[in-house]
Formats: sequence, structure tokens, C-alpha cells
Amino acid sequence: MILEGTGVSSGISMGKALVLEDENIAISKRGREPVEEIARFKDALGLAKEQLNTLKEKVAEEQRGILEAQVMMLEDPLLLNQVESGIREQSVSAEFAVEQVMDSFITLFEGMTDEYMKERSLDVIDLKKRLIKNLIGLVSSLNILPDDVIIVADDLTPSHTAEMDREKVLGFVLFRGGKTSHTAIMARSLQIPAVVGVSGEIMTGDFLAIDGASGVIYVNPDEETIEIMKERRKAIQERKLHLEKLKGVSTETLDGKRVELVANIGSIEDLEYVVKNDAEGIGLFRTEFLFMNRDTAPDEEEQYKVYKEILKTMAGKPVVVRTLDIGGDKDISYLDLPKEMNPFLGYRGIRLCLGETDLFKTQLRALLRSSIYGNLKIMYPMIASLTELQKANGILKEVREELSLQGLPFGEVEVGIMIETPAAALISDVLAREVDFFSIGTNDLTQYTLAVDRLNERITSLYDSFHPAVLSLVETTIKNGHANGIWVGMCGEAAGDRRMIPILLAMGLDEFSMNPSDILPARELIRSLKRDELEKLLVKIRGLSTGEEVRKLIDGLH
Ligand code: PEP
Ligand code: MG
Repeated sequence: MILEGTGVSSGISMGKALVLEDENIAISKRGREPVEEIARFKDALGLAKEQLNTLKEKVAEEQRGILEAQVMMLEDPLLLNQVESGIREQSVSAEFAVEQVMDSFITLFEGMTDEYMKERSLDVIDLKKRLIKNLIGLVSSLNILPDDVIIVADDLTPSHTAEMDREKVLGFVLFRGGKTSHTAIMARSLQIPAVVGVSGEIMTGDFLAIDGASGVIYVNPDEETIEIMKERRKAIQERKLHLEKLKGVSTETLDGKRVELVANIGSIEDLEYVVKNDAEGIGLFRTEFLFMNRDTAPDEEEQYKVYKEILKTMAGKPVVVRTLDIGGDKDISYLDLPKEMNPFLGYRGIRLCLGETDLFKTQLRALLRSSIYGNLKIMYPMIASLTELQKANGILKEVREELSLQGLPFGEVEVGIMIETPAAALISDVLAREVDFFSIGTNDLTQYTLAVDRLNERITSLYDSFHPAVLSLVETTIKNGHANGIWVGMCGEAAGDRRMIPILLAMGLDEFSMNPSDILPARELIRSLKRDELEKLLVKIRGLSTGEEVRKLIDGLH
């Protein structure tokens, strides 16, 4: 069987699928032969009994009764018969039949008038989850994965991905999400092949061969397909070896225009990939990942140590650290923020930092103190107005004064902003007067300009950074930045896109910040281009009306 989705992290991976638990567990309806499904069901039932009996020994007296009642339920012939006949008659998977039968029990309990009996529905829900978990071999935590699996899930949050044991994952297949979801970005920086927005069904144990570039997934492929995929994997490996030769080589066009090629990172562990891929610095450190998967925010000292280590490792090369950009798809539970209808339009980025000033100040203090160890630049996310920028700069000034009063040393630091709202791009002439640099965040700039949710797989085809409206905002930003004497970079995913790079070079972008894995291919491409030809190309692009036309023109170049 062949499934398709959007390839978001290139590479070939082959291995067993592990379907992960989700809040709404994704259960596959398709089953194997009924005899096999019934055997699986009986195994899961036996395992559940064992688990409950072991648990019984460990709990207090009053809970023991509940567990005993659950064991009795598992022995109820009604449950056994109904699940077995469900599997036989509908040819469905055991987990699907279990869910059907137990849901009918749950509805029955919930409809009872007796409060005590009503509450028993919770025990049935619990039991249902246990059985399904046993059936699918679900793993609730990504840090206890079996070896060499391809993770299959409805969706993964960035915090899920961050806690994952990276060594054990061969690939990702997600039924939801788009190219610029943070999970996709993370997969790319770890160089783990990934396909998102997939439709179809996959079961734990299926053998998958995935192509993270084309987005094609072969489920239980034949020998011939496996051989073809192996060949393709070999070709990718050879290309990697070829790219190695570009390490230490200057990033400049054929006619000698130099640009800066730097990396995006989300954690200190990513430094390994920065060094391996010969990045000339760091153009975006997404610090919010430091704040995830824990119960409290990291204090000043903890943050200081991380920033210091990154700066020391980069040994004088530029390091742009973005202040906390929480919100959107990046949630932090301990901040206890109310759920929002439109999180990407809500209390996120600089808005949150200006509201939670203690959090913001702690980060700024840690950053400034670490600045003596290297070439630090501070960047604020999600700026949409001059007032926000001035407020943030005001707080930074206060922090500087506090540190001076305390006699704590700090260095000269450039301060910049992300241009990721259309508003910021349109008033970039005004904003440029207050900062030392801009970095264009096309991931958000595209979603806000086109009103297309970057996570929604149903509208992936509308999410287009080549749309003339987005390109026009990018060009405006670069022009306004340069007119005011500041440098302009880009740290959205578009900066590493081989079709976008010629356009950005032509527009005069100074710094390209991308996934470490894109650095060497980008250097190779830039070294093959010439400025006067690119300028002619840009004139043509300005006359085009759709993203497709722009891409077609670029493709015609090669
Ligand atoms: C962007 O929006 O382009 C960006 C780099 O920020 P993030 O992807 O973290 O929102
Ligand atoms: Mg952004």
C-alpha cells in the first residue's frame, strides 16, 4: 500500500511503525485475519488482568475494590463474546472492536440515575484505555521508546518531540501538520526523515519505507520496492559525502558577493549539527525549548550557563538568541495560561514577554551576563508595532542599569527584531531606526499574510512563501533595513529553500539562517549563482502574479 503526505524532512527511512498514543488515540479500523485479531485481544486481556492484579498489591484498601471490579469486568462473558463477534462479523482490528463494545458499556453506565453507578463509567473508560494500550503497544512517553522505530502519530507537539529519545527514531509519519510546524522543523534539524499531513491507516508493527522528500510512504512494501529505496538511500549518502567538500569554503556568488550562512537551533544539543555542517554562526536560537518539559521556568543561573556554553562553542561567531516565543503551537503548562480560540493570534511572543515581565527580565539578565563570552545578538519575536519594540527596549535598558548597579559585567550587544507580521514588514522603515538588525520570519509572515494556518494540513497547498504578497513584504523589509543602514537576515524556513535562495540573493539579503542540514546545499547553490543574472530574474519576478509562476520561472533556471 502507498500513502502520501507532505515530505518535510528529506531522507529515506525503513523500519517498523510505532503508533503513538495521543489524547484522542488514533485507532486503525483495518485488522489482520479475525483469528489473529481474536488472539491479540485475548493476549491484551490476559496482560490487563496481570497488570491489575500486580497493581492491587500496591494500592490502598479502598482502591483495591475498584481494581477487583475491573478484573471481574474483564472476565465478563458479555465483553468477551461481543468483542469476538465484532471482530468476526465486521473484520475489524481488535482495538476497534474493543472500543465499540466498551463505548456502548460506557454510554450505558453514564445513562444510569444512580450516582454511584454513573461514576463506574470512569472505571470502564480506564479499562478501555488499558486494553487498547496493551493492544497497540502504545508508549505514553517518547523517552522510553524501543529501538529503531518510525513514529506514527496523529500529531506531535514540539514539547513531545523535544523529550523524545533522538537515537531511537528512524522517521516520523504524522497525520496532521504542515511544513513549518515546529515538529517538522525539529525533524529537519535532527536530519530525521519525516512526512506529515498523511491520509490513510498504519498499524503498529507495519513495515514502512518512507521518503521524506517526496512524502511517499510504502506500507509493507515488496522486496523490489525495498531495493529501490535502498538505492535511493545510497545516492543520498553519496551526495552527503560530496557536500562535505564545501566545509570551510567561503559562501559567495560566482562574482564574489559574500553572504552569511548561519543555523537555526532549538537546544544546546543542536550545536553538534551546527558544527558538523560548518555554519558560520547561529541566526536563530529558539529559546522557548529551554522552558518546555519541566515544572518551572529555568532560573537566571540555568539560562546563563546555556547561553554561555553556546557562545563559547561558537567562539566569536555571531549568535542570535531570540527571546521567549511562547504561544501558537508552543505551550508551557506551568504558566497556566488560559486556552485561546486563536493561539497564533493571541498572547504569544513579545506580547507574553511584555505581560510577564519577570520572566522576560530574567531572560534578558541571563543573556546580557553571558554576552561577555562571545558575539551575542538579542532578538524579539512577533513585533507588530513600534510601541511594543520601544517597551521591550525600555525593559532591556532597565536590565542593563540593574546589572551595572550590581557591578555585573556585560558586553556590547546588537538588538534586533523578527519581521514576521505583515504590520512589521510594512512599517519596517520606522522599526529600522530603533534596532541593529532584522530577521525575517517567513514561517509566520506567510501564515499571517495569507491567513493560512501553518499547521493545518487541509490548506497546505495555500501556504505559499512564493506568493507575490509575501515576496513583496520580504523585499520591502530588506529595502527599508538597508536604507536605514542595518543588516537584514531571514530565519524562516524559506531561507534554506533552494528555489527561494536566488530570489533572496537578488533582493540583497545579508544573512541566511536555516536548518543545519540545509547549510552545505545552500553554500553549493550560492557559489553557482551570479548577481547580474539574479537581478534580471528579480525584475521578471516582480511582474508575476502567482506563487506557481514564480516557482516555474526559478525551475526554468536549472
Ligand atoms: C518564523 O516565524 O519564520 C520563525 C522563524 O519563527 P518560528 O518558526 O519559531 O515561529
Ligand atoms: Mg515565528
